[in-house]
Amino acid sequence: MALIVQKYGGTSVGSVERIQEVAKKIKRFKDAGNDLVITVSAMSGETNRLTSLAKDIHSQPSTREMDVLLTTGEQVTISLLSMALHDLGCDAISYTGSQVKIITDSVHGKARIQSIDDHRIRNSLSENKVVVVAGFQGVDESGNITTLGRGGSDTTAVALAASLRADECQIYTDVDGVYTTDPRIEPNAKKINIMSYEEMLEMASLGSKVLQIRSVEFASKYHVPLRVLSSMIENPEGTLITSEENIMEKAIISGIAHNQDEAKLSLIGVPDKPGIAFQILKPISDANIEVDMIVQSVSAREGLTNFAFTVHRNDYDKALNILENICKKLDAIGVQSDDKVVKVSLVGIGMRSHAGIAAKMFEVLHNENINIEMISTSEIKISVVINEKYLELAVRSLHSAFELENI
Ligand code: ASP
Ligand code: MG
Repeated sequence: MALIVQKYGGTSVGSVERIQEVAKKIKRFKDAGNDLVITVSAMSGETNRLTSLAKDIHSQPSTREMDVLLTTGEQVTISLLSMALHDLGCDAISYTGSQVKIITDSVHGKARIQSIDDHRIRNSLSENKVVVVAGFQGVDESGNITTLGRGGSDTTAVALAASLRADECQIYTDVDGVYTTDPRIEPNAKKINIMSYEEMLEMASLGSKVLQIRSVEFASKYHVPLRVLSSMIENPEGTLITSEENIMEKAIISGIAHNQDEAKLSLIGVPDKPGIAFQILKPISDANIEVDMIVQSVSAREGLTNFAFTVHRNDYDKALNILENICKKLDAIGVQSDDKVVKVSLVGIGMRSHAGIAAKMFEVLHNENINIEMISTSEIKISVVINEKYLELAVRSLHSAFELENI
């Protein structure tokens, strides 16, 4: 007998019929002798609907009241799902985040879980009940309702699994796992059967938006075996995300991630002396702009260097403005900028023990005549910034050169 935490996303509980289907699935797991704790999202579209109601009333609604509002979405689905289980003769009980006591900090809209009191859940499990917990929500020390940020139900599921020491945390969604790359770009993309937390973090942060990133960080910290699988197919195997030491055959490349929201800014001919990086990036960070890749080149001319970085496209105009001011202040030659760039990355833990991956990547891009504008590397990732018109070509040619269709 196993203790399994399962999470069903908004599409999986998007209608009464879907909720009934999910209940049938849960009952089968229960009848097979498992203990089950279920987390659900709000019905698909509900969180957006509630958000727009709030916006119709106030242009900047109070974050505390937003949390009171948004958590109702999940309260609807936990009760309906419990009723659907009752209808199948399966004993079940629902709890909101504050009933469980999922304690978070007080940062409304993106609260972090601090602790979970799992007594009520354990008691209900010992009464042989399926426990249904509202995703995406908690309560702070003063009793205020909080939410964990969009997609936060994934994190609720993983946190419950960690706290209960569950055998597995299963995230049911509308895709059947994590793919070697975006199947909309490369139709030959394959489902990955097993990957490490670290690889998933790289893939997730680079645009494979299957899981809330924070849930993967949580799973990694507490070693929760995490499986992403489809709620729409029978007996799915999905993708297992686990600790690196549990992976026998380490793929050199697990996948190719891409990020289309990049913009590149460069300061040309800036005096090469101590404090330059600080003086450029401090005002950027003071403006709450997150910087991704940073490259400072070797002094091009005597005493002068070039400094380039990428930001999210939404921050492009703001960053450009700031950089133009810095350019004047530091007496640099000029600013160059481009918001038509993308980042493409190869990710794989096997890279650690294989040399020559970067060279092969650059060769593939060279053969396609794709100019690389920036490069950055880590132990398990090589990223390049290229012009956005080459995105599909780069992803497809790398996918085939590294034979990812055969994994
Ligand atoms: N309902 C919330 C959202 O739409 C939380 C979740 O689905 O994970 O973001
Ligand atoms: Mg989601």
